[in-house]
Amino acid sequence: MNKRNNTQTITLIGAGLVGSLLAVLLAKRGYRVEIFERRADMRRKDISAGRSINLALANRGIVPLQRAGLMEKVSPILTEMKGRMVHDLQAEQNFQSYGQKEEEVIYSVSRSELNKICLDAAEQTGLVNIHFDNKCEQVDFKAKTLMVKNEHNGQISTQAFERIIGTDGSASAVRDAIHNLTSKQLEVLPLGHSYKELRIPAGPKGEFQLDKHSLHIWPRGGYMLIALPNEDASFTVTLFMPSKGKCSFESLDSKEKLLSFFNQQFSDTLPLLPELVEDFFANPTGQLATVKCSPWHYKDLALLMGDAAHAIVPFHGQGMNCGFEDALALVETIDANETDDIDSTWQAIFSTVDSSRKSNGDAIADMAIENYITMRDSVRDEKYLLKSALAFELERRFPSRFCPRYSMVMFHRLPYADAKSRGIIQEEILTKLTAQIRSIEQVDYLLAEDLVINKLLEVNLNPE
Ligand SMILES: Cc1cc2nc3c(=O)[nH]c(=O)nc-3n(C[C@H](O)[C@H](O)[C@H](O)COP(=O)(O)OP(=O)(O)OC[C@H]3O[C@@H](n4cnc5c(N)ncnc54)[C@H](O)[C@@H]3O)c2cc1C
Repeated sequence: MNKRNNTQTITLIGAGLVGSLLAVLLAKRGYRVEIFERRADMRRKDISAGRSINLALANRGIVPLQRAGLMEKVSPILTEMKGRMVHDLQAEQNFQSYGQKEEEVIYSVSRSELNKICLDAAEQTGLVNIHFDNKCEQVDFKAKTLMVKNEHNGQISTQAFERIIGTDGSASAVRDAIHNLTSKQLEVLPLGHSYKELRIPAGPKGEFQLDKHSLHIWPRGGYMLIALPNEDASFTVTLFMPSKGKCSFESLDSKEKLLSFFNQQFSDTLPLLPELVEDFFANPTGQLATVKCSPWHYKDLALLMGDAAHAIVPFHGQGMNCGFEDALALVETIDANETDDIDSTWQAIFSTVDSSRKSNGDAIADMAIENYITMRDSVRDEKYLLKSALAFELERRFPSRFCPRYSMVMFHRLPYADAKSRGIIQEEILTKLTAQIRSIEQVDYLLAEDLVINKLLEVNLNPE
C-alpha cells in the first residue's frame, strides 16, 4: 500500500537513458515527474541519440528495466553477444566466451530505441511531463527555481521545483550547481584516447557479415577496433585510439593515410566498410574522460544520477548499466523509507544513495579503464588466456567463492566496489598459480584450494 503523498513532484534534468528510466520508476510509485530535456523529442524528429549508436546491456541494467516492467518491450530489440571474437593481424578469428553458463551473455541494443521505449513508458504512466528543447541553464537552490532556455526561440523561463535530480550527463548543469554550494571534489580525467564510429552494413541478402552473436575486437596494442551487431544485420564499428601522437586520430589526416593504416592493421575489415573514408571524415571524433565527483547530493533538494555523477570510459560497457542501477537504488531507498512523512526523510534518502553509490561509481570507473588494456592488448596474450581458463575452472570448483571479475561485473549484481576488491585478490591467486606453468593441466589444485579458501570469503553474487 503506497502511503506516500502523491502530490509530490520530482524534477529531472535530462531525458536520456537514465532520466527516462528513472521517470518510469518514480511514476510507478505515484510521483509526478517534470523533465526538462535540452534536445528535441527523438521519437518525432530524426536526431542522433548522441554518442554510440548501440550499447552493451548487461544484468545490472536488465534488472532495473524488469522492475520498471519494460523488458517485454526491450527483449525484442536485443541481440545476444556470447563472447568476444578476436580478429588478429592475419585475419584469423578466435572466439573467447564471456561466461561458462548459457545465461552468461550480454546484449547489444540500440541506444535510441531503448531511450524511446523508456520515454513512451514514462509518458504512458500519465504522471510524467517531458519538456523537450528546454535546457537547464542554472539552478537556484535558495529560491527553488530553475532557469530554463527554450532551444527553439532562446526564451528564458523560470521554473519552480520541489526536488531535482540531475540526469543530465557528463557535463551536468545540476552537478555544477551543487558543487557551487559545497566543498566539492571534482576530477575530470581525460583518457587521451578518442573514438570514431563507422558502419558495416548488412550483406547483399540482408545477412550479417560477421558472427552475429559476438562482440568483435581487432586488438592492436595501443588501439583497437570493435564491432557490435545491430538488429538490421549491420554492425556499429568503433575505432578507439590516441587523440594525438604518431599513430592517432590527429595523424590520420588524409584518405591515403587512413587507407594505408586500415590496410596494415585491419585489412579484413576493408571489404566490409564500403563507406570507410566518407564516414571517417564526416563522423565526429568523440572524446573520452572519467568524471569522479563528490558530493552527489545537496541537502534534501538535489541528487545526481548516471553520467552526471560518474562518467566513465566505455570499455566495460557499464556506463548505462551503472546509471540504471543508480535509478533502482534511489527508488529502493525511497521504498525503504516509506512513511507517512516522507518529506522529512528526503535528505536521508539522498545522502544514503550518495554514500552507497559513490564508491561503486569510482570502482567501475577504475575497472573500465583497466578493461581498455584487456580489450586492446591482453586478449591476445597467452598468459591472459591461461588465467581466464583457470578463472573458469576455479569458478566451477569453488562457485561460492570464486567468480571471474568480468562475470561479477556483467552477469551479477554484487556491488562494483566488492567486485573490484575481490578481483584484485583473485588476480593475485591467478598470477601465483600460473607463474611457472604454460597449460591448465599443470595447475596445482591443492595450492589453488588453499589460496581460494584462505583468501576469499564466501560471497552472495546477487544481493537484494
Ligand atoms: C562510445 C561509447 C560507448 C558506450 N557503450 C556503452 C555500453 O556498451 N554499455 C553501457 O552501459 N554504457 C555505454 N556507454 C555509456 C553510456 O552511453 C552512458 O553511461 C549513458 O548514456 C548515461 O546515461 P545518462 O542518461 O546518465 O546520460 P546521457 O545519456 O548523457 O543523457 C543525458 C541527457 O541529458 C540531456 N541534457 C544534458 N544537459 C542538459 C541540460 N543542461 N538541460 C537539459 N537537458 C540536458 C542530454 O541532452 C541527454 O539527453 C558508452 C558511452 C560511449 C561514449
